[in-house]
Amino acid sequence: MAGREKSIAPMGRSYEPQEAVGAGHARDRLRGQPPGKGIALRAMKGAPAEPRPPAPEGRMPAAPGPRLEWTGLPIAERRIPPAPGDAGTLIILTHPACLLHDPGPEHPERPARLEAVLEGLRRHHCDADWREAPIVKLGDLRRVHDEALVRDVLEADVSGYRMLDPDTVMCPASRAAALRAAGAGVAAVDAVMNGEDRIAFCAVRPPGHHATSGSAMGFCLFNNIAVAAAYALDKHGLERVAVVDFDVHHGNGTQAIFFNDPRVAYFSSHESGIYPHSGAPYERGAGNIFNALLPPGSGGFRFQNTWADDLLPALDDFKPQLLLISAGFDAHMRDPLADLMLETEDFGWLTGQLRAVAQRHAGGRIVSMLEGGYDLDALREASVAHLDALR
Ligand SMILES: [Zn+2]
Repeated sequence: MAGREKSIAPMGRSYEPQEAVGAGHARDRLRGQPPGKGIALRAMKGAPAEPRPPAPEGRMPAAPGPRLEWTGLPIAERRIPPAPGDAGTLIILTHPACLLHDPGPEHPERPARLEAVLEGLRRHHCDADWREAPIVKLGDLRRVHDEALVRDVLEADVSGYRMLDPDTVMCPASRAAALRAAGAGVAAVDAVMNGEDRIAFCAVRPPGHHATSGSAMGFCLFNNIAVAAAYALDKHGLERVAVVDFDVHHGNGTQAIFFNDPRVAYFSSHESGIYPHSGAPYERGAGNIFNALLPPGSGGFRFQNTWADDLLPALDDFKPQLLLISAGFDAHMRDPLADLMLETEDFGWLTGQLRAVAQRHAGGRIVSMLEGGYDLDALREASVAHLDALR
């Protein structure tokens, strides 16, 4: 896969090494309105969040404390594997190691993000089949990553912080988190392909969709979704795997890795003019790349129309045998890193559409993996809406 990233628009070349941590993503904030404008706009629109139904009685997880604490996986006491096609069931993969990856103070990709997601999922999807994400095998990483990157991430002596690029920082716990994040996707593919369940969600970090074959970048160490897609092709003999990416940033790494591989089709909507400055509609790969640029302030109406008119018909035509989702929630109007101005309901809408595509072509099989999302309340709310619509 080496060198494929060279065939798309230059990415990350404009970053000066001396820039502060978070400069790539965070710098985009300076181009738009100041953080927090989404809250104001939401108030103007008078669109409060829909109240969620209470969790089943007696199963309410403990509320998180002021400090980050792993409160344990709410493993179901007894689980009977559903037959393929059963509705309403769901596997959630996560691991406490993913809470320990810490890129440093003030970094937006912080452990509290995952804690917020888990808090929401424990409350609303406590009855899912919760599993610990395994450590990925090196051979599974090497399908999409150069040996040099694998060694760089796994073998470097990290004490304190180690910057891989101005955005992407490792701490001593990062290696374990990266191995679990990538391992979650592989295990999720096995689970849905083996008929243990139809839907799996990987609540993991660091995120992955910016990492290319040879470079960790944009908060991402390994490209978790690409590792999962390549595994599905190789180990399960699939011929058509779709990766749908609704993170507000373009998944340049995923696109680059599969740019010349028509067995994987990549579908992404993302905000124009922000990191990583790739993902133009003319970037088509082998005819398997589908990009839609949305201008800042687009909002849900334009977002939904773009998917309904352009991306979803193309996805339907591709007839994926397995649908993978890069689920980033930073297009939410409250997110501090972007200005696409989606509301929580928009994530639920698209997820419902994707579920229908998967039911038509993939036996309902979906693996979704957490990517971005930097406002904790929006992230918690939108990830719950995503899973509500997946089930
Ligand atoms: Zn993002």
